[in-house]
Amino acid sequence: MSKRLGWYKEGLCFECTGCGRCCSGGPGYVWVSDAEIEAIARHLKITDEECRRRYTRFCKGRISLKENLPSYDCVFLKGKLCSIYEARPTQCRTFPFWPQNLESRETWAEAALSCEGINKEARLVPISEIAIQLAKQEEADEGQ
Ligand code: SF4
Repeated sequence: MSKRLGWYKEGLCFECTGCGRCCSGGPGYVWVSDAEIEAIARHLKITDEECRRRYTRFCKGRISLKENLPSYDCVFLKGKLCSIYEARPTQCRTFPFWPQNLESRETWAEAALSCEGINKEARLVPISEIAIQLAKQEEADEGQ
């Protein structure tokens, strides 16, 4: 086990409450790969090109989903629910087990300030599952 995985080797408490906060408010980015755009397009039964035009934007050298203004909510957030849930990108699937959140106890505590599901005691996520999510997110970061 790498040193980086050490501080949460006993697992971490997280259970999504469905509050929708991670998909709403404040400017942010949901990075998407070509394959993820294609998956969203298939889900919406539109062409890849239309999906790119209507729902994505180019920023910082990468492709992100658009946000609705002035709220900055994700373009796919409807009420508190994700309208493309089955086709949501890796970044959404792996939250909150992102490299930057898992860096230290402090960064995890910081993430908990904006996600009420973090540190909820209802569900202890084992390190084996955290490691899988982390690896998926690292792979997605490298591929975009
Ligand atoms: S902010 Fe946390 S609890 Fe709320 S919807 Fe997002 S992951 Fe779930």
